[in-house]
Amino acid sequence: MLRGSKRRTWRKLKMGIGAVMVLSTLVIMWLTGLASLRITLAELETRAEANLAVQTAVLERLLDKFRLLSPLLARGPDIGQLLTGSGTPSDPGIAAIAAGMSGAEEIWLMDPSGKVIISSQDAIPMGSIGGSETIPLAFEQAKQGQLGRQLIPGTPGVPSNYVFASPLRRDGQLMGVLAVRVSLDDVEQAWALSKDPMLALDGIGRVVVTNVPAWRGQHLSSFTPGTNIANLPLTGRMELLLPTSDVSDNFMQLTADLPVLGWEVRTLVDIEDARQRSGWAMLVALLVCVIAAGGVWVLIARREAFARQERRNRAAALRLERTVQSRTAELRKANVLLEQEVKEREQAEANLRLTQAELVQAAKLATLGRMSAALSHEYNQPLAAIRSDSEIAGMLIERGRAEEARTNLTRIGGMVDRMAEIAKTLKGFTRKSGTDIKPVSLRQVIDEAMLLLQPQIKQSEVTLSLSLPENDIIVKGGRIRLEQVVINLLSNALDAVGTEADPKVSLSLQREGKVAVLSVSDNGPGIEAEDMPQIFDPFFTTKDVGAGLGLGLSIAYKIVHDFSGSLKAANRDEGGAEFVMRLPVADEHVLAAE
Ligand code: ADP
Repeated sequence: MLRGSKRRTWRKLKMGIGAVMVLSTLVIMWLTGLASLRITLAELETRAEANLAVQTAVLERLLDKFRLLSPLLARGPDIGQLLTGSGTPSDPGIAAIAAGMSGAEEIWLMDPSGKVIISSQDAIPMGSIGGSETIPLAFEQAKQGQLGRQLIPGTPGVPSNYVFASPLRRDGQLMGVLAVRVSLDDVEQAWALSKDPMLALDGIGRVVVTNVPAWRGQHLSSFTPGTNIANLPLTGRMELLLPTSDVSDNFMQLTADLPVLGWEVRTLVDIEDARQRSGWAMLVALLVCVIAAGGVWVLIARREAFARQERRNRAAALRLERTVQSRTAELRKANVLLEQEVKEREQAEANLRLTQAELVQAAKLATLGRMSAALSHEYNQPLAAIRSDSEIAGMLIERGRAEEARTNLTRIGGMVDRMAEIAKTLKGFTRKSGTDIKPVSLRQVIDEAMLLLQPQIKQSEVTLSLSLPENDIIVKGGRIRLEQVVINLLSNALDAVGTEADPKVSLSLQREGKVAVLSVSDNGPGIEAEDMPQIFDPFFTTKDVGAGLGLGLSIAYKIVHDFSGSLKAANRDEGGAEFVMRLPVADEHVLAAE
């Protein structure tokens, strides 16, 4: 919602900027056009003024130059002789020479009646306009003793002429009048170099000199604004000179006065160029404005694109932040769950450990129970026997049958021996490991064990086979204890085959690399699968009460492990059990050192 209103405001702002730019462009164009027009017009005016001044000076100088020629000539002696008749009237030499030298068009002399006496144009009569009738005003002025002046207006085909006339006086008498005619064609030729139309108007508004031949001799008053001269070429449009169109749309009119003659010189300056230049300036201004506006527009567009990109980036960052937040929340949740799980596991582990401890405790108690039962049985039986035997012995002694009592006492001694034996076995179980360890010959151990078991072997009629290596095998341990292990294994085997028809027990010793392997096998019933896990437990026995304490294998197991060896029990495929003892062979160099 907020974004939409912002966008609308931005659009309005853009439209406003656009309108301001268009307006500014128009104003700049107008100002540029105006300034250019003003500057160009000022330049044109300056140039035209200079030109007007120069061209006016040309006209003035020309007339000035000839203004004094007629009085000068009139005072000359030759002219006087001509009038008094001492000269040669038909000789136009003097006048021609004077005319030629001064550059005048014609010089002529008239008598007081106005008759031409001599003229520089006599040789070319057609060019002569001499005679008082052609210059009545100047002739009259000269007769009255002044410098006569008269304009002979031209026509579109004939340039204007200006005549100066001076009286010729001798002794206060008017002898004649000398006239000098100047063609204004020279001025027109000079003016023709100017590209702007120029003209000189006399006092009555007649075009006297001009660089537009068509205008020559025309009266300004003959043109009115209504005159249909629109189709005339520009140079022919004299109505531009009318007071009502002093400065027409396309021309600028400048005027200079010639006070001496009462004339004025005007020039028309075409300002179309200035207009065109102003138009070009406006166009250039427009172009500059368009380029500037384009630049501004590009900047605005870029800024807009940048802002859009910025908005997009912000939105993406926001989205990312949200995603991160949600992921973080999920992770935190998962973390909490994990912590909970870890706690549960820890709890379960603690419970397990507790249960284990309880089990161990229970097992210990069970072992203790079994041990107590076995021990109490083992001890109670002989103790009861000792009691009864001692009582009997006492009674026999009382009756004087001491000899008979001896038998009982001997039996008592036997039973005490047996109890001592049990105590010894128990002591062996608790003996500390690691003491009294030295190199032991396994062959020697086996020989000793066989010797000790000889009576039992003979009694049971068992076939005992021995398989011994040629070389003795030395291990590190205690000889007596290792003997105990071998005796335990062999007596168990002898016990196991007790009921067999063909009892067989075999003992083998061999070396496997650095290990001495001693195995005792029999063809007895083997070990029950359910008994296998607890066979090495202390006080575990399957034998009848009094026949076994259940300590033999556990003691053997402990002894072998004390000597870094292992003891394993298994059932043979062909029947019977097999016990394998493995002990590391003592290194020879160790033995040598010892
Ligand atoms: P005990 O001989 O006093 O019973 P042991 O620890 O020596 O104690 O033996 C534990 C039990 O292992 C025996 O009761 C017997 O069940 C079983 N056992 C040991 N040796 C053999 C064997 N060679 N064959 C079958 N079972 C055996």
